[in-house]
Amino acid sequence: MAVYLCHEQPDLLEHEAVVVESRPGAVLLNHSALHPGGGGQLGDTALLGTLSGQRRITGIEIDSEGRWWHLLDDPMAQIDGEVLVSVDGERRRRIAALHTMSHVLNALVFDEFDGTLVTGAQINDDGTGRMDFDLSEVDNDRLRALADPLNMIIANGVNVATDYVSADESASTAGLVRSLSVAPPPTPDGQLRVVIVEGIDRQACGGTHLTNTAQSPPLSIDKIENKGRRNRRIRFSAAGPFPH
Ligand SMILES: [Zn+2]
Repeated sequence: MAVYLCHEQPDLLEHEAVVVESRPGAVLLNHSALHPGGGGQLGDTALLGTLSGQRRITGIEIDSEGRWWHLLDDPMAQIDGEVLVSVDGERRRRIAALHTMSHVLNALVFDEFDGTLVTGAQINDDGTGRMDFDLSEVDNDRLRALADPLNMIIANGVNVATDYVSADESASTAGLVRSLSVAPPPTPDGQLRVVIVEGIDRQACGGTHLTNTAQSPPLSIDKIENKGRRNRRIRFSAAGPFPH
């Protein structure tokens, strides 16, 4: 059982919902196909159709009880009753593409630099992203050179799959949980979601992903920055249009 509806039904972008609680500028829905964000990935945005017109959902704020407040573009808007949710699909695909390829970049750096770990990541909705790695004495040209295998993997069209493993298995599998910040919450039956880029990477993740690397545009590595003595930041971006 998946923990998010968008994991269970990744193609569900439009659905009816009922506002179960509201306050000015935000609503709780009985169910929602939006991804809430987290782990360096932006959450979904959506159109919210109501009887009195359309509003935009600009993001999700999770309160201390784990409830998803869908934030509205008008902080004074009060919405109740039945609504129609339409997730911004193109935006989700752009973010999913760069996020999925950040798994691949993570694996390439892990292989090239002997188990180096990610210390941070951010994917934006403008076709850019960054990843930070725990790396000190390395030649930045070696990092820039990873653009070649990265684009080779896009060109080769590698399948991306999702699986669920027990908490016990995830604890005993080295490298599965790379960063606690991207690991999704466990499912109600105690399973952890794992994303597999076939033959390349396997890690716990709650983000949104492509189903094949060929759905990513080619990428360029734009800049390597030193962030402190032990940190390198790789900035990358789409080097072509996003495929439809
Ligand atoms: Zn992921």
